[in-house]
Amino acid sequence: MQSTVGKVAEWCAAAGISGQSDNGGLVLTGVSTDSRKIKPGQLFVPLRGERFDGHDFIVTAKEAGAAASLWDSSIPLPNIDIPLILVDDTLAALQALAVGYLESLRAKVVAVTGSNGKTTTKDFVSSVLSARYLVHKTEGNYNNHIGLPLTILTASIDTEILVLEMGMSGQGEISLLSSLGQPDVAIITNVGESHLLRLGSRKNIARAKLEITDGLKPGGTLVYYGDEPLLTEELAALNLAKEVKVVTFGENPDNDWIARYIRVASDSTSFALAGDEEESFELPVAGRHNAVNALAAIAVGRQFGLSFEEIREGLSSVKLTGMRIERSLAKNGAIILNDAYNASPTSVKAAINLAAELTGYRRKWIVLGDMLELGPEESAMHGDIGNYLSESKTDYVLLYGPLSKRTLEEAAPNFPGGRVKHFEEKGELADYLLKHVTLDDLVLVKASRGMRMEEIVTILQKGA
Ligand code: ATP
Ligand code: MG
Repeated sequence: MQSTVGKVAEWCAAAGISGQSDNGGLVLTGVSTDSRKIKPGQLFVPLRGERFDGHDFIVTAKEAGAAASLWDSSIPLPNIDIPLILVDDTLAALQALAVGYLESLRAKVVAVTGSNGKTTTKDFVSSVLSARYLVHKTEGNYNNHIGLPLTILTASIDTEILVLEMGMSGQGEISLLSSLGQPDVAIITNVGESHLLRLGSRKNIARAKLEITDGLKPGGTLVYYGDEPLLTEELAALNLAKEVKVVTFGENPDNDWIARYIRVASDSTSFALAGDEEESFELPVAGRHNAVNALAAIAVGRQFGLSFEEIREGLSSVKLTGMRIERSLAKNGAIILNDAYNASPTSVKAAINLAAELTGYRRKWIVLGDMLELGPEESAMHGDIGNYLSESKTDYVLLYGPLSKRTLEEAAPNFPGGRVKHFEEKGELADYLLKHVTLDDLVLVKASRGMRMEEIVTILQKGA
């Protein structure tokens, strides 16, 4: 963001600005909510967190170079000589500021939501659109009610397309984010089981994802995963009042964009489009589900007028955010696929399918940690993974975490001779791998973020 104190006050509908009356023309060159990271010339936005209140750090922010700050008008004014923009609620003001700034840009907006694959799809879409446009995208996982406004505010003035990831943990959240981002194109990657606890059913999860249509501009495009019948059913039930173009993608033949001949290797995936345009594509990352994520990027690329050649180039050169099936070598040369960024039943099954599809390895090891935050059905869901593993072509399964004991119970009858094991300690699991994995093996590691299973990857990379 490059703006002035006066403009910011207008966007936030501020009650006033402290200090001298000529403060309004002061130029601001960005926004930060973190007093430790603020750069000279930026606007400080003090937010109230669970443990801290940003207002307590106004002096630090000023010393670090903050040129002005938002300020909750119910808090006594500090004795400080930078302009304070007085608002009712600094979070709401940050969001309003982002909306104001976004409306001042000429950028089109692509929003991405879904239970799994948001970040990956966001990276695919950005890489594709960068062939012709100046694209600004969500970094890391800045996908919530604070991260999304900050993402908008870090877009440069000449941004042509903004690609925004929208995450949620409950009802109403995507609706808010969508109303802030006002997308021209909205993507729903899929419907999984994450947040089942809060939402109660997969149908409710589908509805929550479809809230992305709330802020979708009239005449905008909704691009969704057509192999998920719940999305089609719930979209029909919504009976949208505004005109929306609907585009679907998936592996089923009734979608608008269909992937076929999907071939997966440990470091790449290739596929072709079905239908009139039999173009083929290669991704520098493993996974059948990534071919499907890439379809969303193809649909969006075509929507923005890109040629298949440009799209192909964008997909083949994508740089993904870390720990999404990140391939590396163990010290002894074995291939490691680190997918330890997060896990839910859908994404664990996607990972098991991936291991099943990969060929050319002496043995395949699947290392799974617990899937967290699944609610009352969590034990049954771990059991279900045990059954799913039984049908996969995996040689060894190593499990860690209390919930994964249930996975062990279900999988054990189908993995005789100690081919499935549960470990109480992560270190013991890593030692076991170090001892048994050989040069021509494949090891896939997956778990929820809280399990920190990437520690196992690091140990394998370093060796004993
Ligand atoms: P978060 O909610 O944490 O932001 P996300 O939706 O951004 O997650 P990604 O980070 O892109 O998702 O991917 C997380 C994991 O989900 C991947 O490593 C992969 O295992 C799995 N995954 C990605 N895309 C799909 C998909 N289309 N279907 C099922 N699983 C997927
Ligand atoms: Mg993400």
